[in-house]
Amino acid sequence: MIDSPILEFRDVTKVFYKGTQPVVALEGLNIKIQEGEFVSVIGPSGCGKSTLLNLAAGLSPAAKGDVIYRGSPVDKINLSVGYITQHDNLLPWATVRKNITMGLKIRNVPTAERKQRLEHYLELTGLKGFENHYPAELSGGMRKRCSLARTLIYSPEMVLMDEPFSALDAHVKMIMHKELLRIWDEERKTILFITHDLVEAITLSDRIIVLSARPGQVKQVMQVDLPRPRDPFTLHTKPEFSAIFETLWDGLKDDIYKGENV
Ligand code: ADP
Repeated sequence: MIDSPILEFRDVTKVFYKGTQPVVALEGLNIKIQEGEFVSVIGPSGCGKSTLLNLAAGLSPAAKGDVIYRGSPVDKINLSVGYITQHDNLLPWATVRKNITMGLKIRNVPTAERKQRLEHYLELTGLKGFENHYPAELSGGMRKRCSLARTLIYSPEMVLMDEPFSALDAHVKMIMHKELLRIWDEERKTILFITHDLVEAITLSDRIIVLSARPGQVKQVMQVDLPRPRDPFTLHTKPEFSAIFETLWDGLKDDIYKGENV
């Protein structure tokens, strides 16, 4: 395989300061993400998962090492990536249509192209028929679809997702997993997905990176060779799934118990 990752962390350390007190969030991180891969990062609370995404998005610089996107250092906002956070941040006074296309309008994308892209992403995310609804009229799952459409409509090469489904009910979450897998299969964007949910990580990913408790360091990397398409409603009942779960949990549990004081 040709080794030309779309995103690479080369010996990256990130330090925050609380007053004069340094807080090392990430230390000596070496990660490569290949184009089209679906990679999840899991680890205990506060181990630096969101920090890692912010570095990839160019929202904050590394203290040491390099974050490289398509061969160039990320030293300003990385416009090639889309970012989906836990909160959908939909504008309450704008319809689904306006929420999804607003960014394109600001960027002066011509009306005809805006319409064409909107149609495509309404269809792709299952929002057709809801374009004139306001966010308050949507279910949690629908809001997530809207948030996905709003990001994908820019055609970012890579999508950074920070626990996007963590606030959803268990079953809606599985429906959204199914939807995300279907959309990913159609668009094949590179996805870097943050979660603390092992089942979610295994269901979705090609590869899972486990970070240690802070300072976050790569503790384990696991290839998830479960065949696709995957059914999020039944995958967790398969013995191959359990084997992966057990191996990952073995690597994680000490840090989780330590961090949560349970
Ligand atoms: P995670 O996403 O894994 O829960 P974060 O990346 O949010 O962890 O944070 C990693 C560590 O860095 C935490 O200890 C957090 O308190 C600290 N941290 C994050 N952002 C800042 C900041 N802007 N200033 C100071 N400390 C921060």
